[in-house]
Amino acid sequence: MDDAISTLRQWIEESENIVFFGGAGVSTESGIPDFRSTDGLYSQKYAYPPETILSHTFFMKQPEEFYRFYRDKMVALDAQPNAAHRRLAEWERQGKLKAVITQNIDGLHQRAGSEKVLELHGSTLRNYCMNCKKPSGIEAVTASEGVPRCNCGGIIRPDVVLYEEGLDSSVIQESVKYISKADVLIVGGTSLVVYPAAGLVDYYGGSKLVLINKGATHLDSRAALHINGKIGEVLSAV
Ligand code: NAD
Repeated sequence: MDDAISTLRQWIEESENIVFFGGAGVSTESGIPDFRSTDGLYSQKYAYPPETILSHTFFMKQPEEFYRFYRDKMVALDAQPNAAHRRLAEWERQGKLKAVITQNIDGLHQRAGSEKVLELHGSTLRNYCMNCKKPSGIEAVTASEGVPRCNCGGIIRPDVVLYEEGLDSSVIQESVKYISKADVLIVGGTSLVVYPAAGLVDYYGGSKLVLINKGATHLDSRAALHINGKIGEVLSAV
């Protein structure tokens, strides 16, 4: 592990075109559970699996139940950015890192100071009325009970990509652009099983693919550097 961290440190020092691609594991050290760790949401017992509750069909049919789970498990306003979020923001300020591409919906990269953040799955912090399209902040969800409603009577929904819904094509295109031009691509805190997001890493054509994860992924054998550890701890040590 020490050798891998030294190599990563050298690559970071030398590069001015680093791109980071991450997922829920980036925020577990901030206290937000991921889906697939042993203490993640898949191991907790609900009437339905998270991916059913967080689907378009479920939202349309049972918005009350959706919002009960969503407020309880997906909205984490007290969570603070951790060492991984802060380190990535620092590299951007130093002109080394060009973009953070995230599957997360918690807004913690921006809170840490990152500016170029491509949110593949949207953000819990943005919401809008399904009827009149009026945008609202997170308070529309946190300060209400049951299904939040707009003044016009429409249902307010989160600006997040639910299962069965398509990703924003401009965010995908921009992500492809950054990944395909990257010198160093760091992939961290993601099981790489949620598509199409996970497929974006295939656009990387360089020789410095770094994988930092607590568990195994299908990319392990392709990575030039594979660090099995907690991403906040690893990035602080670089
Ligand atoms: P996932 O739960 O499928 O996988 C998380 C991966 O990160 C696992 O392989 C786990 O071993 C690893 N991990 C956990 N903690 C880690 C740490 N401290 N350091 C390094 N690795 C760590 O998450 P995913 O791949 O992002 O896919 C799940 C989907 O659910 C995504 O779409 C994501 O947006 C969404 N989600 C988001 C949040 C959030 O916004 N914080 C939380 C839960 C789920």
